[in-house]
Amino acid sequence: MAENTKIEWCDHTFNPWMGCTKVSPGCAHCYAETRMDKRLHKVRWGKGQPRQRTGVANWKLPLKWDGEAQKATGAFDESFFNQAKLSQKRPRVFCASLADWLDHEVPTQWRVDLLNLIEQTHNLDWLLLSKRPESWSARLHEAMGGGSELARRWLNGEPPANIWVGTTVENQLLADERIPALLRIPANVRFLSCEPLLGPVNLSAIPTGEGHGLNEAFPRITMNPLRRALRDAPHVHWVITGGESGPNARPMHQDWARSLRDQCAAASVPFLFKQWGEWRPADDRDSDRPHWVGIPDGSEEDFSDSPMVRVGKKAAGRLLDAVEHNEFPQP
Ligand code: SF4
Repeated sequence: MAENTKIEWCDHTFNPWMGCTKVSPGCAHCYAETRMDKRLHKVRWGKGQPRQRTGVANWKLPLKWDGEAQKATGAFDESFFNQAKLSQKRPRVFCASLADWLDHEVPTQWRVDLLNLIEQTHNLDWLLLSKRPESWSARLHEAMGGGSELARRWLNGEPPANIWVGTTVENQLLADERIPALLRIPANVRFLSCEPLLGPVNLSAIPTGEGHGLNEAFPRITMNPLRRALRDAPHVHWVITGGESGPNARPMHQDWARSLRDQCAAASVPFLFKQWGEWRPADDRDSDRPHWVGIPDGSEEDFSDSPMVRVGKKAAGRLLDAVEHNEFPQP
């Protein structure tokens, strides 16, 4: 449940528990469910099914990684922490690949223990990705009630320096719902995982939610959460994009990925193109292969202007218009 990972944008994955409930189209072919429920029968997926906490030895691994990172970078002190908090030298830990850290069906004590572990591991940057960013406040209040000092400070507007908080955005509908919720979370680094990307996403008119709760008649302010980087307002610092992999993978139109790339470039926001997934755009090599020109689930777009071929994740690779995009937030 903890491992050196093959995920391009982190150094380790850590799973404090396993199990989840599907919440949106990106969950349709959930890799974690396929592996841990259907194949290995370690946990049952879905609402009302008990989640499985991982073992004591697994929970010790981040402490080991933290010790290794400290040896590599020198003794911890406050100035180092502040200066190096976004450095590429700091190992990044993805939490969690087999669950959602804001899942409300997880016992509060487990989340308290996770936040305590994060607090103890100053030399690691924790990437907390969720499809439930709107529930951050409720889950943190529960954790604070359970004794988490980190949760108390975070709710008080003091985001932990070693947490990057992210949300998954599969299409425009979810961008409109989840990005405003993400922007409401106090954070030093916020990121979007646009994977599996199932439709076009225009970030120029995301409702930020400003004014909500103050006055129902207050007009919604629309603003590009990338361009907000140019002023002192909550914004998105990093965008990861990728297509779906696995047996039933849906294709990603190349224009959807190009558009996110170009929006990030225009706003000077780092962009990482993780993978095409199972499908890549057809080219001269593919005259004998069957092409996808249909309409994937969760999208109104068709592919007749850009046929896709299924070649497998490895062969599809991660070049977008012949370029590898590997950008990260910088200190
Ligand atoms: S939120 Fe993540 S772990 Fe949970 S069902 Fe969806 S894809 Fe799977």
